[in-house]
Formats: sequence, C-alpha cells, structure tokens
Amino acid sequence: MGNIFAYSIEDRLYLNITNRCPNRCVFCIRHNERGVGYDLWLDREPSVEEVLAAAGDVSAYREVVFCGYGEPLLRWEVVVGVARALKERFGVPIRINTNGLAEAVLGQPILPHLAGLVDVISISLNAADAAMYDRLCHSELGPEAYPALLRFIRDSKLYIPRVIVSVVAIPNFDPEPARRLARELGVELRIRPYQTE
Ligand code: SF4
Repeated sequence: MGNIFAYSIEDRLYLNITNRCPNRCVFCIRHNERGVGYDLWLDREPSVEEVLAAAGDVSAYREVVFCGYGEPLLRWEVVVGVARALKERFGVPIRINTNGLAEAVLGQPILPHLAGLVDVISISLNAADAAMYDRLCHSELGPEAYPALLRFIRDSKLYIPRVIVSVVAIPNFDPEPARRLARELGVELRIRPYQTE
C-alpha cells in the first residue's frame, strides 16, 4: 500500500487521515473499484507532521479538504493540528467532508474545536428520514445514527460559517423531502450523482 495522505483533484488538495468509518453505505466509493483514481487504503494513520509534509505548500490550491476513505473527525485532534498549521502558514480555506457521526461515536463534542479553523463543512445527510438512512448507510450506531446526525448538522451552524448537507441521487430519487429538510435545518443542500462502478 502506498499510504497516500494527500492527493489533488483539479485545484483542491484532499487529505486522507483515516479509513475508519462507523457506516457501510451502499454507495460508498470505498467499495467502488474506480474510487477517486488513487489508492486511498492506509496501512497506518498519519500524524499531524506526516500530513503536513504530504500536503507541502498549499498556497496554490483553492481549498484543502479533509476527506479520504473514512471519517476524518474520528481523528479530530489531527484535523485541528493540520488545519491550524495550514491556516497560519498559508491562510488557505479549509473544508471537512464528514458523515456527521464522530461526536456520537466518540461521545464528546468536537465542533467547538473546529471554530475559526474550518470554513466549510459538508455533511452526508444521505436520506430525509431515519428508515431510509438505515437502509442506505448500515451504521454501527443503529437507530441512534440519524438523530445524532441531525443534531450535528444543527450544531455545526454554531461553529462553522458554511454548512452543506449532501444526498446521493439513488435510483428513483425524489429530491423534495431532502430539500424540505435542508430548508428546515437552515443549510445548503447538494445532490450528488449516484456512481455504481
Ligand atoms: S459514511 Fe462515507 S466513508 Fe463511511 S461508508 Fe458511508 S460513504 Fe463510505
């Protein structure tokens, strides 16, 4: 395994800090052979210093995104350390792509630590109700997952300037319930294409 901790796609740099995730979503790119074009499986998780070394000079990128094959906020201390250093050195905008479940998994607040460091958070809402979420995401948190996710979305607005939730346009997808829920939550909605190969 190559242990790719940072990779670029167009004008964004993506950071891959863990493969751990409490979910097994049916549409996860981890189960998709093509993935993102990089082998993102890690045989160990990087330190703050290793991520910064892999990232290098990020001043040319439009954005740095914590992403990877897993849930970055399970390692929120690393996210904070890396984000703080990148902000101080380069002033680059920082985004986190998250499933919104790390606070529930770890049983502690994480969002207050991200205030002032993270500009955008993109949270996988995935479904407009708990039953559909369970069908799609098979979370190890079981029925606790969806309410914890909604709580995390609401709380994110207190600490992060821009909050986006995303859903995947699975076959026969009706966008209306997700639009309504996003409006109720007061956040932006992004509909992502469904990729099967
Ligand atoms: S939450 Fe994200 S990383 Fe985890 S299984 Fe679902 S799509 Fe994959």
